[in-house]
Amino acid sequence: MFDDQDAIAKLSTAIAQLHTGPIPDTVLPSQKYLTQARESLIQHLPDAGLGVQKVIQHLREDIAPGFNASSRSPNYYGFVTGGSTPAASLADNLTTAYDQNVQIHLPKETIATELEDRALSLLCELLMLDPAQWQHRTFTTGATASNVVGLACGREYVISIRNTSSVSVGEVGIYEALHRAGLDKIQLLTTVPHSSLGKAAALIGLGRASVKTVGLREQPYKFDMELLEKLLQQPGVASIVAISAAEVNTGLFATSGLAEMQKIRKLCDIYGAWIHVDGAFGILGRVLAGKTYEIITQGCEGMELADSITGDGHKLLNVPYDCGFFVSRHRDIAQSVFWNPNAAYLNATAGSDAIPSPLNIGIENSRRLRALPVYATLTAYGRTGYREMLERQIVLARMIADFILDSPSYELLPQSSGSKEESLASIYIIVLFRAKDEEVNAELVQRINATGKVYVSGTSWDGRPACRFAVSNWQVDATRDFPVVRHCLEYVAISKKE
Ligand SMILES: *Cc1c(COP(=O)(O)O)cnc(C)c1O
Repeated sequence: MFDDQDAIAKLSTAIAQLHTGPIPDTVLPSQKYLTQARESLIQHLPDAGLGVQKVIQHLREDIAPGFNASSRSPNYYGFVTGGSTPAASLADNLTTAYDQNVQIHLPKETIATELEDRALSLLCELLMLDPAQWQHRTFTTGATASNVVGLACGREYVISIRNTSSVSVGEVGIYEALHRAGLDKIQLLTTVPHSSLGKAAALIGLGRASVKTVGLREQPYKFDMELLEKLLQQPGVASIVAISAAEVNTGLFATSGLAEMQKIRKLCDIYGAWIHVDGAFGILGRVLAGKTYEIITQGCEGMELADSITGDGHKLLNVPYDCGFFVSRHRDIAQSVFWNPNAAYLNATAGSDAIPSPLNIGIENSRRLRALPVYATLTAYGRTGYREMLERQIVLARMIADFILDSPSYELLPQSSGSKEESLASIYIIVLFRAKDEEVNAELVQRINATGKVYVSGTSWDGRPACRFAVSNWQVDATRDFPVVRHCLEYVAISKKE
């Protein structure tokens, strides 16, 4: 069928090398390149096309120098960007080459939906989630979209279980559904949520103001169980409990062990609440084992008790943008929320145990085969490959944290009264810190990024600026990369007076 298989393979390899070739020595383009790239942008739609050759040359020579090296350089520590493994990069190009639309399950016509379902079940296996239990599974554009899916499912569930005639928001809309269920509102109870949770709440009609944090005073990322129960009990209010695993500023997990998750599960069962875990990057912690990573694995314990989980593909799974995933234990809820109605032409003939058509369990109708890079990278490196990849990243994060703890110029956040060993043991892939000197701290992020060797992102902690390393690239090699970081931090601390 495809007599161009060979050409596709060669082209794909060549393009993938762009992703996986030599590590660039600077993480940001120079201002000169940015300006040149900006000025080269073609202003108006040309009447006669410029031709493919010319445009590709334009993209490569004028525009590409204006891109940052966010996924190609392991020294890009801003946000949790992730990189792309060679297997994933290659497969991503094949996704484009074969251009499959994963919309309807058509087993006699394409294997695309089966491949996708297999990729998702392999992913469940990697994350120690039994695929038989997690039957609503789908790929999304990223963790934000997965959070939208999760809250939409939660909203459907908390209303439908309160109504004997099982009213569906998907069917009658949120206003009437709340009314019929005798509810005034739905609240989202969480600790230090990712900003996308508020966005998801806004999108699905709960509103950003429905997000309420129920963290402990001294450890805001942990649940105040008493407060949680008190809010769950309110009459006329249904709840979705969102667990931040892990929290994006510090990488700390909201829960620490199975017992705590069991307690939350029990409360949610009593009060008819849905548990959604935002495990965008934290969920990968489930591949770890052993004493060194105990605090992380405890933070990941009991996720199997949740109703739904968000994960990101383009972060620690290290597949190219745009890829997130979502799993839930409620396949029936998926259909009530995402059913694509009155489209006889899209109906697949499928039995109840068959793979559901992706359009009926997720946001999009037509979309690309996001599963292919995931399938490729999981099978190429396996469980061990992924564990080692993550361990390398944690080792580097802990070396950076260790340096900061010993440094007279910097302090590790959140401040802790525990031993150095304890502080290091709770580091996952994020290192939050600040400069002790106020003047340096005010410009810390800019100064580090101005070196061009290392890129970090800024945030605020306790009302003051703070700085954040997010290690998330498969290429990380602490022996090679730590000296670059140390040198950069030392330089920035002493270059104060310049
Ligand atoms: C990154 C992140 C998100 C949003 O993910 P996108 O892939 O950018 O949509 C949501 N939650 C957490 C905890 C994250 O770290």
